Amino acid sequence: MIRARLNPASHAEIQPKKVVGVLLPLPLAGAYDYKLPAGTDVPRGTLVSAPLGNREVLGVVWCDAEGTVGDNRLKEAVPLDGGPRLPEKLCDFIDWVADYTLNPPGAILAMALRSRGAFDPETRRIAYVRGSVTPPRMSAARVRALEIAGDGLARSVSGLAEDANVSAAVVRGLVTAGALIPTELPEFAPFRQPDPSFAGPKLGDDQATAADALRQAVTDTKFSAHLLDGVTGSGKTEVYFEAIAAALETGKQVMILLPEIALTIQFLERFAARFGVRPAEWHSDLSQKERRRTYRAVMNGEARVIVGARSSLFLPFPELGLIIVDEEHEQAFKQQEGAIYHARDMAVVRARIEHCPVVLASATPSLESFVNASQGRYSHLKLTSRHGVAEMPRVELIDLRHARDPVDAEKKAQWLSPPLRAALEKTLAAGEQAMLFLNRRGYAPLTLCEACGHKFTCPHCSAWLVEHKYKRRMACHQCGYELPMPSSCPQCNESGTLIACGPGVERVAEEFAVFFPQARFAIASSDILHGPAETQAAIRAMARREIDVLIGTQIVAKGHHFPQLTLVGVVDADLGGSDGDVRARERTFQLLHQVSGRAGRAEKPGLVLLQTRNPEDAVMQALARGDRDGFYEQERGYREAYAAPPYGRLAALVVSGYDGEAVREIARQLGKCAPNARDVKVWGPSPAFYALLRGQTRERLLVQTAKSVDVQAYLKTWLAGIKVPASVRVAVDVDPVSFF
Ligand code: ADP
Ligand code: ZN
Ligand code: ZN
Repeated sequence: MIRARLNPASHAEIQPKKVVGVLLPLPLAGAYDYKLPAGTDVPRGTLVSAPLGNREVLGVVWCDAEGTVGDNRLKEAVPLDGGPRLPEKLCDFIDWVADYTLNPPGAILAMALRSRGAFDPETRRIAYVRGSVTPPRMSAARVRALEIAGDGLARSVSGLAEDANVSAAVVRGLVTAGALIPTELPEFAPFRQPDPSFAGPKLGDDQATAADALRQAVTDTKFSAHLLDGVTGSGKTEVYFEAIAAALETGKQVMILLPEIALTIQFLERFAARFGVRPAEWHSDLSQKERRRTYRAVMNGEARVIVGARSSLFLPFPELGLIIVDEEHEQAFKQQEGAIYHARDMAVVRARIEHCPVVLASATPSLESFVNASQGRYSHLKLTSRHGVAEMPRVELIDLRHARDPVDAEKKAQWLSPPLRAALEKTLAAGEQAMLFLNRRGYAPLTLCEACGHKFTCPHCSAWLVEHKYKRRMACHQCGYELPMPSSCPQCNESGTLIACGPGVERVAEEFAVFFPQARFAIASSDILHGPAETQAAIRAMARREIDVLIGTQIVAKGHHFPQLTLVGVVDADLGGSDGDVRARERTFQLLHQVSGRAGRAEKPGLVLLQTRNPEDAVMQALARGDRDGFYEQERGYREAYAAPPYGRLAALVVSGYDGEAVREIARQLGKCAPNARDVKVWGPSPAFYALLRGQTRERLLVQTAKSVDVQAYLKTWLAGIKVPASVRVAVDVDPVSFF
């Protein structure tokens, strides 16, 4: 429900009504013209209630009117009660993102209005406090209730009844008797304010230098971009906390983007240790009510620091003074559904529009940011050693082609090689912790029938069903389709013929338990079947030393700090190294480097063992030598030679829909009508990696251009040449980072 201010002016008929362009949070081509109520003029960003068809929708005054429709045919948009308004810079940002990603501005606005009811007036709650009257008739229950109410806190009827252990009728009787008097409470508890000087750290030399630079950037109140490039465990968080402190001291708001909710929880506690209170959160797990509370608090300036997922980018900060993007290389910052955008890149854009600094933090920066920093577009703040006495871990390769159990060994391992098991034994004997990493959820990625060769695949996706042994189910990791684990083959009806192929974390855990029956372990994976709560529990158990070994997927690779963890074993370092996209090597390096960085973060030195079948591979060699910059230089050379990003531009068109023939037809037409232009190459159409996803057929086209080409203009011309039926969707992905 949208509440609008009543039409105020009585001289309405005399004054001409102003006409403005109103943007609606819908994927329409642009703003629509509306009249404002007579005598009203409101600035850009003002929220209005606007009739659309026979509905009233929320809209935002966006621009000057453009239409030629006669005044009398225009409908009237009425500003909301209290005059709430999106900050003008947010409106500019929305326009910018829309232009860059080739989405209708209304589709981007929708992301900025994602709290239902954020603009409704606050509903105040009635609560009761002790009045001066004492009723003549006092029962024991009444005495108790008034005693409790005597502490001065305002309570609801049920709240007081519960606290005093009396019935609600007793409380109501006291209200009628005038012994309790009603009072109004605000709908929401206020946000507590972080204190910049609550617990300042003692910084190391590198840290202090970087922190000073960032404090300076914050007080300069102009755009600047900084790559905070520090090895794992070097204390990047402590450094950017200083920038946050500076922003708080100067009365600015701060936005912190983290790639995953799972990382947020540890972060909140760390933030509280430094600033005395937790920051406000923004992500998809918030309740409607919390969203409403947080959105309003951001907009009215009450919430000073927001930590959240990429959607925080579109919050209405009136006084934004600093943006932090932690683990900036993470692919999770790319939104792949709906409007496709990269939150890290858009964070830089928002900082430019807000005239404030942006800090990109990582131990393994994206190649784009690395190049920007080395070319001087970003300041390059380096932290080269771990905080305190911790050293970087030693990394060794285990060549799986040779490191095997002897043929006649009594217990033969499939996934944990003898050298890895020996290291595990040593670590456990020393009372230290270990982590086994495999970037694959479930028990086995493929199940097939030995008798007839049948493979279990998802009926809705071109993907195998993954066995999950604990839940005795098979699941599609793309769409969530599930099946109870069958006992016989659905194709040939034989039983006992199904075999699990390859390992997932559950299977590694099973083997681990066979070799180390005494050890305490837990599985952590970002899974549809192991929920986030279970993962958090495993991570907490590890931090509290309630378990010895954590066996997990990429969810355990990042951010976590376990002081007693001295051994990291990577079960299959070759996974994901060859899916033919320009960033595959970079990503493998980043992931393995991050996971290695979990080892030896305190006094005891760390050891990382990578099991591989390609020990000569450049990625493996760079990891073993600890030569990150060498790897980046080599990678940069490849990208330059192939005019790949950041030395050239990429954009993808993804054609999808339930009608496979229509999808292929549109993709073919797109391929044919691609305009010829200098320094532009078009590939495809070809079936996407998941040619079928959630029941939809998918085809892809890829555009590669020189850096100087205006790829948006090219795409616009191209797409204007073709009529797409409603059953087919053509999604534009500017700067694609994955090719699924
Ligand atoms: P990174 O994010 O660079 O991997 P962290 O910020 O997690 O590193 O820091 C690693 C560990 O060192 C954390 O436990 C952190 O609290 C601690 N630490 C870092 N800098 C300091 C400091 N100046 N004083 C005290 N502890 C610090
Ligand atoms: Zn079969
Ligand atoms: Zn599926």
